[in-house]
Amino acid sequence: METATKSKRVADGNILDRLFRPMGVEGVYARTREYEEVADVLQQLISRHRPDDAEVFRFPPVMSLRQLETQGYLNSFPQLLGCVCALHGTETDVSAAVDRARRGADWTSETTSADLVLSPAACYPIYPIAAEKGPVPARGLTFDVAADCFRHEPSKDLDRLQSFRMREYVRIGAPAQIATFREQWMQRAQSIAEALQLPYRFDRASDPFFGRVGQLMAANQIEQALKFELLIPVRAEGGPTACMSFNYHRDHFGKTWGLTDESGETAHSGCVAFGIDRLALALFATHGLIVGAWPRAVLQVLRLD
Ligand code: ATP
Ligand code: ZN
Ligand code: MG
Repeated sequence: METATKSKRVADGNILDRLFRPMGVEGVYARTREYEEVADVLQQLISRHRPDDAEVFRFPPVMSLRQLETQGYLNSFPQLLGCVCALHGTETDVSAAVDRARRGADWTSETTSADLVLSPAACYPIYPIAAEKGPVPARGLTFDVAADCFRHEPSKDLDRLQSFRMREYVRIGAPAQIATFREQWMQRAQSIAEALQLPYRFDRASDPFFGRVGQLMAANQIEQALKFELLIPVRAEGGPTACMSFNYHRDHFGKTWGLTDESGETAHSGCVAFGIDRLALALFATHGLIVGAWPRAVLQVLRLD
């Protein structure tokens, strides 16, 4: 379902040069003011669609290593994970590591886990917080969350960053509540993409589960339609890019964190994730590098007029 737009698609190199500055590592960029202004107004646009009952949390870019282990992340996506390590021990231990650095040797081998990981998705920390609240009420729970996320997938592609912003609405409740939530958000996402005059299509999708067992999990995810993506052309070459995703976790997080309703039934969950950086890039790629020259109606929707 592609909407028609006048094609003045911008070359990837021009976008990178104009909106980002390199920071010495693939997929990690300093962002310019004009890019950040668009990221900000996108966040505000998404906030205007916030469900009335949503509780808001903003997470730091790190989360508990134990919590991530508990939810089974290492079985699914160990290849994407970034851990925070630090120099522990006595003054002598720390000095020994610093001496290694002075000799030009690898000092990082002396570091050990700080019990933190870089959050790979914005919604992961919300489930244990929700579980702390006690039984899930009959109306279910809704959250608005966001975090700077990290995934170890270094790439030269401008839409595959190692560090990127993710905004999510999360629903916890009965299976039918999650299904309704996801359907509504797929509708809303479509109207947002249309209002922004971004060409898009929906597709069933799978997550990049690790290894051979992972291939089965991915096939299962597609077959059971657990994940949909809204794809928008961002890069000049290759297929369109997943800019939003619509996920049904079934009882995965409910079981992990003991989320149950009043009668003891395990809660299900789902989330809609907005890739803020990919959406911003999609706008520049579609409408050009000069924000002031974007279609009037798009500027109005973003309240930039
Ligand atoms: P892809 O298939 O492109 O790797 P994904 O399926 O891993 O995407 P999700 O895990 O659903 O994506 O993440 C939620 C949202 O975060 C995505 O819809 C996308 O907009 C954004 N996102 C994911 N990975 C990246 C990345 N490497 N760089 C920028 N944005 C990303
Ligand atoms: Zn999520
Ligand atoms: Mg991915």
